[in-house]
Amino acid sequence: TVMELHKAEKLSAISQLAASVAHEVRNPITTIKGFMQVLLGEKNLTDNQMMYINISLQELERTQTIINNFLSLARPAVHQENEIDLTLLLREITEFMKPYSHYSNIEIIEQVEEGLKIKADPHEVRQVIINLMKNGIEAMPDGGKFYIKAGNEGEYIHVRIQDEGIGMTKKQLAKLGSPYYSTKEKGTGLGLMICYEIIYRMKGKILIDSEVGKGTTFTLMIPSAA
Ligand code: ADP
Ligand code: MG
Repeated sequence: TVMELHKAEKLSAISQLAASVAHEVRNPITTIKGFMQVLLGEKNLTDNQMMYINISLQELERTQTIINNFLSLARPAVHQENEIDLTLLLREITEFMKPYSHYSNIEIIEQVEEGLKIKADPHEVRQVIINLMKNGIEAMPDGGKFYIKAGNEGEYIHVRIQDEGIGMTKKQLAKLGSPYYSTKEKGTGLGLMICYEIIYRMKGKILIDSEVGKGTTFTLMIPSAA
């Protein structure tokens, strides 16, 4: 069963307001982090004190990630669209992800055609591919093979990001695209929304094919610049 990813809801006016609050909260967090780091350098700290400071720093880090994810949704940045070599970009991202995948006993297999060209902001494409690869890797707790394929099919370039992971039920699939939908303890539920926003703006589509226990394939259809 292949379905297309749709965004279930738009970020509301309240979310827009929340974005300005999130923005304001960033500065104090940076200050607190700075002082925590100074504290960590103090002599004569007990093991417990050290542990509390380290946990606080980790939690602040997590807060920053959530805020940054949220802000990149609520306030899209200025988009720099140029013709880019998708082939090189995909290979570079694959190399970048390899240490992370080795750690989870996952082998990444890259099958990308030469000379694929699209019009896009490379930072945004990178964000989409990394979000999807991270999801795939997180779905394979026991390791396995992970494929990243790309090729020209008519007016679209198809990028397939395919894992052998836990897969999703029909019910789970229907929930994809809702803001903050996550089945992970430390998930933000914003990754796929960001992917959707970016690919939709590029006049592309995202297709999902998933089977419980078999794995999931995300297919990006991006208009070719060739
Ligand atoms: P997060 O990763 O923070 O949970 P995402 O928006 O990236 O948020 O993903 C939302 C949810 O979609 C995940 O929590 C997971 O349940 C499901 N999901 C996404 N990608 C996959 C995948 N490759 N395999 C299985 N489930 C997935
Ligand atoms: Mg994710």
